[in-house]
Amino acid sequence: MASPRFTLLYALLLCLPSRAECQETSRWLIQQQRGSLTVYSEFPVDLDHIEAQLQSVSDQLQNQLGIEGSDQAIELVLFRSQSNYHKYLAEKLPEALERRAVFFRNDDVSQIYVWNSRWLMVDLRHEITHVRLHQHLPFLPLWIDEGLAEYFETNADEHGASSRREAVLWKSRLGFPPRLEHLEQLNAATVMQGDDYRNSWAWISFLLHHNTATRDLLRSYLEEIHSGGVPGPFSSYAAEQITGFSGLANSYFRKMHFRLIFD
Ligand SMILES: [Zn+2]
Repeated sequence: MASPRFTLLYALLLCLPSRAECQETSRWLIQQQRGSLTVYSEFPVDLDHIEAQLQSVSDQLQNQLGIEGSDQAIELVLFRSQSNYHKYLAEKLPEALERRAVFFRNDDVSQIYVWNSRWLMVDLRHEITHVRLHQHLPFLPLWIDEGLAEYFETNADEHGASSRREAVLWKSRLGFPPRLEHLEQLNAATVMQGDDYRNSWAWISFLLHHNTATRDLLRSYLEEIHSGGVPGPFSSYAAEQITGFSGLANSYFRKMHFRLIFD
């Protein structure tokens, strides 16, 4: 069964621009296909750099979590301004207007819409994470979906300097660590607040950086979903497999280190 968020996105696809509209050559300064990736852009872009960034995220998802790459089609639609992005999506998808980028999946085609800003690469890395996750998995909890997208939107060496880290540190030291049970109750992107994105990022950081056991816990949870299983809430799944799991997490949130872990 699809997750609520996935269902929402799928329903919205019914009124999205068709692929044929995307392929109006007059609109796009760049229209180029590279393997399974097709890029439509209203402004000049360094396609080699974009391709390398997307590949970097895909490689990390594969190496750390076993999320396999796919040759299913991805369409990247880049607008030169926020107003052009709004004009293009306003009637068909008003929900998208509050964001700098959106991702949709239409059968086997994934589409990313984004407008040009100084966060362009961050937005592309964020959305390609969603694409890879949804290509590989029939569903996944929203907090894992957004937590991984937030985590992989920046390069690994930037996590330590993130403003999110400071916020998690001081809140945790005051006795208010990110609560997994709260995140697990969120079932639609529209109800997620800024704190929820940050706390999802913090939980993913804990799982990927505490030790190999926590990383493998997330990896096996996703593998079970990929294999057709329904492993239930992650908090219960984790508590069954790692003694003192929530205590380990709370301890991590008071340090928020990003050391590399090795098998
Ligand atoms: Zn997202």
